[in-house]
Amino acid sequence: MKKQTMYTLPQAVKKLDINQHTLMKWIMLDLIEVITIPDKKTGRHYPYIGEAAIKKAFDATCVICNKVFKAKYPLNAMYCSRKCRNKGIYINFKVRAARLKAKKQK
Ligand SMILES: [Zn+2]
Repeated sequence: MKKQTMYTLPQAVKKLDINQHTLMKWIMLDLIEVITIPDKKTGRHYPYIGEAAIKKAFDATCVICNKVFKAKYPLNAMYCSRKCRNKGIYINFKVRAARLKAKKQK
């Protein structure tokens, strides 16, 4: 494995320019990979975030075309483009219309 730059959690917060609570949320939800490295002197494990994980932090997958894209809020991002968003809205609309139709027939 190629040696990569490691960031401590406060450094990662600065690098990603996000709130520390956001970072904690991402870690809890397994959205960002955390590596623990033991300290040379004390042997205590400390959490670090690799550069590769930092680069991937804002990646989200489009629910329509499965494309990976950069999102400002990757936790809530669903569509990669306006085209996919319109498609998604149309599909939702069709699903809701079908549900309504089924309800009426009962
Ligand atoms: Zn898409």
